[in-house]
Amino acid sequence: MSTALHDRDGPRDECGVFGIFAPGVPGVEVARLTYFALYALQHRGQESAGIAVAPLHGSIWCTREQGLVSQVFSEHTLRSLVGDLAIGHVRYSTTGSSEWENAQPIVRDDRRALALAHNGNLINAVELHRELRGRHVPFRSTSDSEIIAALLATHPADSLEQAVAEVLPRLRGAFSTVVMTEDRVVAFRDPHGLRPLALGVIEDPETGVAVHCVASESCAFDLIGARYLRDVEPGEVVTLDADGLHSRMAAAGGRRAFCVFEYIYFARPDSLMNGQRLQVMRARMGEILWREAPVDADLVIAIPDSGNAAARGLARAAGLPQDDGFIKNRYVARTFIQPGQQLRRHGLRLKFNPLPEVVAGKRLVVVDDSIVRGNTMPQIVAMLRDAGAAEIHLRISSPPIKHPCHYGIDMSAREEMIAHGRSVDEVRRLIGADSLAYLSLDGVYEAVSGRRERHCDACFSGDYPLAGTEGSGGKFALERAPLPLVSSAVS
Ligand code: SF4
Repeated sequence: MSTALHDRDGPRDECGVFGIFAPGVPGVEVARLTYFALYALQHRGQESAGIAVAPLHGSIWCTREQGLVSQVFSEHTLRSLVGDLAIGHVRYSTTGSSEWENAQPIVRDDRRALALAHNGNLINAVELHRELRGRHVPFRSTSDSEIIAALLATHPADSLEQAVAEVLPRLRGAFSTVVMTEDRVVAFRDPHGLRPLALGVIEDPETGVAVHCVASESCAFDLIGARYLRDVEPGEVVTLDADGLHSRMAAAGGRRAFCVFEYIYFARPDSLMNGQRLQVMRARMGEILWREAPVDADLVIAIPDSGNAAARGLARAAGLPQDDGFIKNRYVARTFIQPGQQLRRHGLRLKFNPLPEVVAGKRLVVVDDSIVRGNTMPQIVAMLRDAGAAEIHLRISSPPIKHPCHYGIDMSAREEMIAHGRSVDEVRRLIGADSLAYLSLDGVYEAVSGRRERHCDACFSGDYPLAGTEGSGGKFALERAPLPLVSSAVS
């Protein structure tokens, strides 16, 4: 898992989604399976979590709250969420603030009752919202995800799939989405495939029953005993219903633009994406980084845990020993207690403490996966020097981040990025390292065996794959008509 979110100033993961359809399958509790799937996807969002369930042809019930999955759901809550189909969501806010109203799944009851969970960001949210407000469609949240929910819930088509097929081409941006009504779960992905979405199956060899599910990442399947089948294709609409699994293409032939940062940072290392294991790809990034930027050194250390896989690959390629230069406090998540003036300068030691016995007198290669603002890297370098390191050679397994993301990842503003408008040597001097090198974009694509024209790398290159992205204004917050609910039900 990429834990850099809480460790330093990394980009923020955005959201994780899950959906399952299992009516009448003995022993399958859809809410419990959704809970565990969300637990596996927790790295994709820590601000809120929610689960919507429904008995087949019954009412949708939804519980969502701010907090981690383990804080939002108790045994008691899970037992109350009885049903045959379910969807779930973990969230880190992209559009809209992190208020309760923006927690998902979003439940709407317009022409059709549905619950929706979305990972991504629309770049034409303003126009769509204006159109819906013009039709007097009310909004409860300030998130762009409710635009998708409102378009589908108010659509006149007889079936949800038909509504999705007609709405999907009107949405621009990133959307890996799971929707449920009283009798089906429908998952769809934007035509560019910006954010991940995978299909899995739980098979019972004795009965031959197969239960299908969808998730942002395959690590969710591992935890609930499901098998990864394949990725949902860009522009594909997948339906899970009483007749099994169906698929149709609603928008084929778009420019493929899978987020290359998922490989580098966001996704859990034990997930499969495009059929490849993230941990293996990240180790390869370290190998290639060494090939591109070798240095005379004694020891390789990682910034835990975000640099672990690349450090292993780099050490292997370099033929250098690797050791734990830092001990990480794994229980620092989000502290609301400020350390105070006296402790502030030691603040980072809450998270990392260097081991002098490992680093003293050594020429170190220090590996991490990315630098965004660069707030904490100078402190990390200073801590290593205090601990006696002789030289510090920083190796970053991604290119310099210079541009914001408009497709669902919070990257900070351009001006806050340490590499924006600076040479590598200027960044090195600010950080205080003896040398600094980043993996090249070509190196990234070699490591993931991918073609550049099928990916998005805009935060490195500034080449946004969707026309008009930069004029879209990035983050967007809707005007809201407040309507607080703790649990909601629609029939
Ligand atoms: S801009 Fe960067 S983070 Fe955003 S989708 Fe593209 S590669 Fe991913």
